[in-house]
Amino acid sequence: MSSKVPPIILNNGVEMPQLGFGVWQVPDDEAEQAVTTALEAGYRSIDTAAVYGNEKGTGKAIAASGVPRKDLFVTTKLWNSDQGYDSTLRAFDESLDKLGLEYVDLYLIHWPLPARGTFVDTYKAFEKLAADGRAKSIGVSNFLPEHLQTLIEATAVIPAVNQIELHPHLQQHASREYHAEQGIATEAWSPLGQGKGLLEVPAIIAIAQKHGRTPAQVVLRWHLQLGNVVIPKSVTPSRIKENIEVFDFSLDTEDIAAISALNEDRRIGPDPAALDMV
Ligand code: NAD
Repeated sequence: MSSKVPPIILNNGVEMPQLGFGVWQVPDDEAEQAVTTALEAGYRSIDTAAVYGNEKGTGKAIAASGVPRKDLFVTTKLWNSDQGYDSTLRAFDESLDKLGLEYVDLYLIHWPLPARGTFVDTYKAFEKLAADGRAKSIGVSNFLPEHLQTLIEATAVIPAVNQIELHPHLQQHASREYHAEQGIATEAWSPLGQGKGLLEVPAIIAIAQKHGRTPAQVVLRWHLQLGNVVIPKSVTPSRIKENIEVFDFSLDTEDIAAISALNEDRRIGPDPAALDMV
């Protein structure tokens, strides 16, 4: 995989770029331009989802890019209303069709919906998609360790990835530890805390000034040095470029410790144990 972003190796031996481009809240008609800008800037991993409504725009940018398919890593996610074995297979076909692809690199269950008790059947359909080579890797999103445990006990393929909300204000120690024990890669959504107060925290600004970098670059670097996969989102070309220029400097132990001290266990998004939206 030729890219300026180094890969991590998933538990099935597949390489995944450690930094990708997220497209949540990018309207379908703007996704093509945003993804095109990201691919030009050197991103090779794109994170979309059925519920984002922009798989078509994302697929158009991929098709027009001229980047060989084997050099791309495309993730999409199964929406909640499609959980269940047969409905998952149907929803996957729809996603592939919208993306204009023959396979995805990673397919994720978007939320566990524990009250419904359908994620095991859903994941069994994921195992079929993996066996058929149509999803090169399979995983989950927003699963707490207790959900992962239930899943692992009932199915054959350990998820390659769990994509969870993770940023300096929500450092997810218990999940990260459990993932490490099970060989599951931790992927951070909202890695920049959605760009709100986090990038104005004095400790982060001070570290940014020390390295001659931006606060966003410092936060992304913190994730990378912890071993997280990150998928920052932006539609602003200068920020899209800025967010990938994070492989030519390092934070020192003191910087990492200062950022790690910012944990408040504070979520921006919903609690996965409670979310039951379809
Ligand atoms: P993020 O932490 O990536 O923040 C994005 C926002 O930060 C941008 O809209 C912009 O306002 C700001 N920003 C970006 N780059 C910046 C820069 N260099 N300087 C200053 N501000 C900057 O938040 P996100 O979009 O919520 O998360 C990233 C991706 O994670 C999403 O696009 C999506 O792909 C994924 N995601 C997944 C789930 C899930 O349930 N699995 C949920 C939310 C997001």
